[in-house]
Amino acid sequence: MEKKNLVSGMRPTGKLHFGHYAGVLTNWVKLQEEYNCYYFVADWHALTTKYNQTENLRQDKLDVVLDWLACGIDPNKSTIYNQSDVPQIAQLHILLSMVTPQNWVERDPTLKDMVKIIRNNDTSGSENTTQMSYGLLGYPVLMTADILMFNANVVPVGNDQLAHLEISRDIARRFNNIYNTEFFNEPLPKLTQIPLLKGVDGQKMGKSFHNDIKISDDEETTAKKVMMAITDRSRARKTDLGHPDKCEVAFTYYQYFADEQTVQQVRCECEKGERGCADCKRQLGAIINSKFAPIRAKREEFAKDINKVKDILSEGGKKAREQAQKNIEQIRDIINI
Ligand code: SF4
Repeated sequence: MEKKNLVSGMRPTGKLHFGHYAGVLTNWVKLQEEYNCYYFVADWHALTTKYNQTENLRQDKLDVVLDWLACGIDPNKSTIYNQSDVPQIAQLHILLSMVTPQNWVERDPTLKDMVKIIRNNDTSGSENTTQMSYGLLGYPVLMTADILMFNANVVPVGNDQLAHLEISRDIARRFNNIYNTEFFNEPLPKLTQIPLLKGVDGQKMGKSFHNDIKISDDEETTAKKVMMAITDRSRARKTDLGHPDKCEVAFTYYQYFADEQTVQQVRCECEKGERGCADCKRQLGAIINSKFAPIRAKREEFAKDINKVKDILSEGGKKAREQAQKNIEQIRDIINI
């Protein structure tokens, strides 16, 4: 049976952290067995909020892809490409923008999130940089073009992102109705339970919050960051009876990274006051480092041969363009343009 199409992208934020690993990449790796996956670096999307901060953009794009490859995204199974290497997406963006009512984009929750990002990133105090650009207003339509360009059947989303996909389904349906066609699939959400790994300070994990642990961090850095992880705040001494479920960060990491037997042992010793938090986090750091050792080795191997990574992106871009060109020709025929 032919595999269904799945499209998903990531903004080029540079080196990725555990939140990306747990929330996106492990899922992407599994999905590539079941679907014909298109994974793209969303560099045009990056410009919608960071058009004036492009100094590191090229390196950030490579860093993202290095992490993807290291974690198991396989160019022999999935199409990996830079969004801006597929100009047909920009063409589709224009065509879809003609059929999208203005109030649809204005109410889109993605847009509201993006405006928040701009405001948080802005340090200039200038009113101009906090204003929404025309490009940002069109963000939901560009996202829809990314998805419809390859006529995705499914898009992986978490429960909290369901509304973000709704506009793409609405635009696909409206295009089909206007032009009396069934060309576009209405992409379905591929729901995933996304494990939430907080930053070491207990807040949302993020590069700009300086609370993240990166996939590419070395062992010493990882061990040091794990030692900063928030534990059960009511505990002062090793002999105090602990509450693993109130150990907001360290025990959550155990639950994600350690095997079940270890998790049960940690729970039991913590509850009986037989385990100190410092020792507990030292063990956790070692577990995480051993899990990431092969991933980091693979990343280093790719990083030493960066031309190979560029070739993978170039090949993926070519494959994506070929498919996109076939689709855009059909779309142009449907519109009579
Ligand atoms: S002993 Fe471990 S699980 Fe218990 S509170 Fe400390 S760090 Fe958390």
